[in-house]
Amino acid sequence: MDKTKRTEKKEVKQKVHNVIIIGGGPAGLTAALYTARANLSPLVIEGSRAGGQLMLTTEVENFPGFEKGIMGPELIEIIHKQAERFGAEFISDDVVKVDFSARPFKIFSAEKTLLAKAVIVSTGASTKWLGLESEQKLIGKGVSSCATCDAYFFKDKEVVIIGGGDSALEESLFLTKFASKVTIIHRRDELRASKIMQDRAKKNSKISFIWDTSVEEIKNVTAGKVSAVVLKNLKTNKTTELKCDGIFVAIGHEPNTKLFRNILTLDQKGYITTEPRSTYTNIKGVFACGDVQDHVYKQAITAAGTGCMAAIDAERFLESEGH
Ligand code: NAP
Repeated sequence: MDKTKRTEKKEVKQKVHNVIIIGGGPAGLTAALYTARANLSPLVIEGSRAGGQLMLTTEVENFPGFEKGIMGPELIEIIHKQAERFGAEFISDDVVKVDFSARPFKIFSAEKTLLAKAVIVSTGASTKWLGLESEQKLIGKGVSSCATCDAYFFKDKEVVIIGGGDSALEESLFLTKFASKVTIIHRRDELRASKIMQDRAKKNSKISFIWDTSVEEIKNVTAGKVSAVVLKNLKTNKTTELKCDGIFVAIGHEPNTKLFRNILTLDQKGYITTEPRSTYTNIKGVFACGDVQDHVYKQAITAAGTGCMAAIDAERFLESEGH
């Protein structure tokens, strides 16, 4: 037998998974749990950033069912084990390419090619960070990107928010319920946020603004906690220091959709477009859930909810195709 024929024969024999789930945050893991319970033996490709944004959070106090709160990574571990119990399998490769042009769909990692009858995309979104070394070292030690998750830890403390969009203002308003003082630092002298949010923030006596300013450094890495920010006025180049106990970076999120450009329909901001009230993408048999298709709610519980929807959509799709 010549080599070509041998290769062809090997491809024919390769296992075709019922469902491959790309991404192992709350959306992907919930999709895994539901598809596993539907006897679909899903394969989850978690990637090197398994667990998603919850791995960056400390205590999660707003996930129903955990009266006393739960640490983000622990919550991920529990859902992971719950899905595993019903037969979900996991691999930790990073997906480098997908081919959804024909079925079975092809998913490529550096090591192998996997085949699937249905695919659930749950690659999430990543916080945009400032890119400072001190920022990276203090994440979870006073530096956060989620006021909803972490505001409670700043009761009667002074915090700084970086950004000028709706997220920055929304997070600031939420933080005023806990913190004694909230300072918004924006790189321009005009906010990007909607007028209504601007009015609300400007009316709040706990909120003050520092304009035309960038954050140059966060102190104090040696002490392992936030004590101040070094600021630079972009008009005068003057550097000052502002004492604070916490820093919230709210300069936007980026959906992790690089792999799907020119394959799945994305909106102007790069999020996957799904059909209303479903997880259907533009490709039949490919579903999207969690933050990769949601820039409105962005909560662990809503990600889990859409993960459940994607699993049900995938199950019904496979059934309709006679699998
Ligand atoms: P956004 O609208 O893109 O705003 C990001 C802000 O961060 C901008 O003010 C931007 O400054 C600043 N920024 C970006 N990169 C920066 C950097 N490297 N250093 C310093 N500052 C930086 O993002 P978002 O606020 O997360 O909102 C995303 C979308 O969700 C928006 O469409 C928003 O309307 C929506 N949203 C709505 C609500 C609501 O209606 N309640 C709440 C949250 C979010 P510049 O202005 O100078 O570019």
